Amino acid sequence: MPSIAATLVIRERLLQRLPPHHELWRCHGEYAGGCLCDGWGERQASAQASYEVDFPPGVTPHCVKLHGACYMIWQYEGESPPIS
Ligand SMILES: [Zn+2]
Repeated sequence: MPSIAATLVIRERLLQRLPPHHELWRCHGEYAGGCLCDGWGERQASAQASYEVDFPPGVTPHCVKLHGACYMIWQYEGESPPIS
């Protein structure tokens, strides 16, 4: 269950387009984390499922990494259409 704090921070970052929204994106699926989360800047523990999301050329940042929970918040808050 994502925390309210995480939701608020991600919502704020979406307003700054970090990570982008309303852009096409492709998810590389679940992998073991261990790097900085772009959702709300907290470090990903290797035990946590993470998602790597790519955006098309011209979108900055081109790639973000999100916790499973942050990924779900970002999807919900950003309503970004996935590349099918
Ligand atoms: Zn996160």
